[in-house]
Amino acid sequence: MLLKQTCSKCIIDETVPGTWFDDQGICNHCKLYQRVEQDWPLGVEGKRRLDQLVGKMKAAGEGKAYDCVVGVSGGTDSSYLVHWAAQNRLRALAVHFDNGWNSPIAVSNIKKVVNKFGFDLETYVVDWEEYREILISFLKASFPWADAPTDIAIDATLYRIAEREGVKYILNGSNFRTEGKMPREWTYMDGRILRHIQTAYGSKKIKSFPNLNLWDFLKFSFLKRIQLVRPLNYMEYRKDQAQKLLEQELGWQYYGGHHYENIYTRFVYSYLLPEKFKIDKRIITLSALVRAKEITRDEAVERFKQPPHPSEKVEEDVEYVIKKLGVSEEEFNEIMKLPAKSFTDFPSYFPLISKLAPIVRIVFQLLLSWTPPMFYEMDSRKREAPAR
Ligand SMILES: [Zn+2]
Repeated sequence: MLLKQTCSKCIIDETVPGTWFDDQGICNHCKLYQRVEQDWPLGVEGKRRLDQLVGKMKAAGEGKAYDCVVGVSGGTDSSYLVHWAAQNRLRALAVHFDNGWNSPIAVSNIKKVVNKFGFDLETYVVDWEEYREILISFLKASFPWADAPTDIAIDATLYRIAEREGVKYILNGSNFRTEGKMPREWTYMDGRILRHIQTAYGSKKIKSFPNLNLWDFLKFSFLKRIQLVRPLNYMEYRKDQAQKLLEQELGWQYYGGHHYENIYTRFVYSYLLPEKFKIDKRIITLSALVRAKEITRDEAVERFKQPPHPSEKVEEDVEYVIKKLGVSEEEFNEIMKLPAKSFTDFPSYFPLISKLAPIVRIVFQLLLSWTPPMFYEMDSRKREAPAR
């Protein structure tokens, strides 16, 4: 029997696209982690950089109503980020993208976090009919990351509100230590793909849905100079400790899994991806927790053997999703049987972005001393691959 090669340090195996192993059997994700660790130092240097960032945000916010905009989902990372902003006396505008799939816990968490610190909360409620059709188009297109429209719309909403308020900083709760880096085959998404899929598989043109085209992105980044920053990368951030602190201080509640505060995201993570695309994203997040020493490798192996979500809950979610999207069971079963596709099967900005990445990185660094994550991460695989 042929066994899958698995990293000797984390649980990533060769089924993860773009993975390779060195002579000691260590995967490129672990190697990338070591390099990124140096780019995002902790301790005294991390603190110094965070203080510097806070100072810059306060200076940029002078004369404005807010220093920064922060997206809130009710999840651990964004809730902790709000807590951090309050501790640092930042005047943050909390923004919630309401796509109709919030779990009750998420709604209650958002209220608790925002009220505790007296931050203003702006909720953007998406046009449900339009959004519903886009989600169905993504399912029909067999695009793996079926929740991608939400990711795009959240970013677009945050940029638009930052622009309206004249704010230069958007706080983002993602962090490489507890999340790791997903292979692009599993998560890559851009505004061109969205436009294409809705045109090809939907019946209506995109009207109010906040899409993010390349031009929008360049306008927000270059002309408006709005930066997306990830403060958690400079902190000794542990998810379990953050949850404990939020529970104790705010009466916040945990909801059972990474991104599980949102029902559609949970459905995509725990049913659609594993069942149809044979993708279980936990292999990346659990490996990240092993590297960050939050759990042991054995613990990760054990947890990964368990289903992503208890089976009776998955059934409940699937039923709920079918009903809420308004598709018939037959239609849904047909969708599940369609052959899986990859983002490379659709027209995207990816070829252009990968070509421009080296230049854009230099220009951004010179102008803003900052590189948008989209370009920063673009060729990490190439740089890390062993010479052949
Ligand atoms: Zn590894």
